[in-house]
Amino acid sequence: MPSGKGPIQFRRGALRATVVAIAPLFGHAAVAQAPLDPSLAETVETVRITASGQRFVPRQSLTPGGAPKHTADYDVTVTWNPGGWLAREEWQLDTVFPVVTGFAYSMTYGEMTGIKDGQDNFRAALDGPTPLSAARIGANFKDLWLTNPLILAAHSDASLPPVEFASGGNVRHRIALSAHDTEWTLIIDPATGLPSEVTTMEQDPTFGEGPNRVVFSDWREVSGVPFPFKVEQFLNGGLLRREMRSAIEVNPADADSVLTVADDLEPGDAAHRDWGWSMSHLLLARAGLGGPADTPQFDNVELLEVGPDIYQVVGGSHHGLVVVGPDGIVVADAPWYPQRSDTLLRLLEERWPDQPVRYIVMTHHHLDHSGGFRSFVEAGATLVAHEDSMWFYEEALARAGFSGLSAVAVDGHAELDRIGRAIGVYDIPNPHSDGMVGVYVPDTRLFFNSDLYSPGRELQFPLSMNALFAAVRYHGLNVERHVGSHGMGYDSEPE
Ligand SMILES: [Zn+2]
Repeated sequence: MPSGKGPIQFRRGALRATVVAIAPLFGHAAVAQAPLDPSLAETVETVRITASGQRFVPRQSLTPGGAPKHTADYDVTVTWNPGGWLAREEWQLDTVFPVVTGFAYSMTYGEMTGIKDGQDNFRAALDGPTPLSAARIGANFKDLWLTNPLILAAHSDASLPPVEFASGGNVRHRIALSAHDTEWTLIIDPATGLPSEVTTMEQDPTFGEGPNRVVFSDWREVSGVPFPFKVEQFLNGGLLRREMRSAIEVNPADADSVLTVADDLEPGDAAHRDWGWSMSHLLLARAGLGGPADTPQFDNVELLEVGPDIYQVVGGSHHGLVVVGPDGIVVADAPWYPQRSDTLLRLLEERWPDQPVRYIVMTHHHLDHSGGFRSFVEAGATLVAHEDSMWFYEEALARAGFSGLSAVAVDGHAELDRIGRAIGVYDIPNPHSDGMVGVYVPDTRLFFNSDLYSPGRELQFPLSMNALFAAVRYHGLNVERHVGSHGMGYDSEPE
């Protein structure tokens, strides 16, 4: 019998001992066994879930800290063999942001290899079936465990005895699980004996580690096994997903034929798989707007000259700007995550050892352009951002334990005077993001913007583009070269 004094290490067979201990706590012995019933691992060899839902991206809000951006509605059918690490997902994804369109695609994958078929990306068409990246496989599997709590518990390696706590006047029980080298926390509702929530910690580039939390309701029995039919997911409190399941099938007859993964595929990179697992929220949020970012963009940093000592930072999916002056460097935007910024910082130090990065300009708060900003601040750069979004960066730094921020809050217009070359930063009212600024280099009449106008790219967003040109005229700038955080190189304002 577990004493309840410390962690109990056991494998599957021993799990029943814990169940005996917790059943009296719930006073509902028959149901209370469900959360930790290891026999479920055998009962449910495969499960098929058909669902509809909505995707959101918290860090793509119009205003920093504002309501998460609704990016898509979807219909999905997932067939999953948890013990065999096999899954197939069939998606119909109807995006409303950033592009209003629809995608139909499938993913069939095993532990280290998989195939994607169909169109899932507004940026580039898939040319027939292509290998599914190891990072995406990691993210997909993480999500399946996270959103199916009884299956997770049945396959867990170990758990701690339940701890009673009060939640909003209700008594709840907390169970800590260890499964697949990851810690998970189940919250059990004693009234039903079923999990009302599962939380696991994930990497959030901006705020550091944060909870990926899934809330369950509308439990129904399927073939004698309880399943949640309503699922809501949050990262750091921000809404990621709402899902209603319309049908669940246990051990569908065609599972084996559906879950066939080609055996001639190159196994994926295990480190990439772990990375995708560790930040599944980000990979799935990106997939949920039709712009998957399934490969880590740590090292693919290159500089493309767009003016005298002015470079577009390219090589990945999202770009930045570097302006080199006699006394230092200005960098604009820090896409994705700190690892990518660290690569750029190393590259700049090698090439311009006497010119430190004095400023990091954040055009706007969206994660894909700002997730790596902390690296520059920690390296000593002054943070430059719109006054309306400065609090957002200050909060991220505070959460990361950083103090001593040097900052320039842009109220309409600011001049950066410490690199020995004139640099202006201007606000741009626009429909894409509040608290947006752009960078102007007057000696080259070059203006850098993010997400509004992308020279060299076919896809443009006319409302955003016109907002940029209106702001340029309002500020009285005579721009000859526009450079974007998307697209390549520079161009003038289109006729
Ligand atoms: Zn954006």
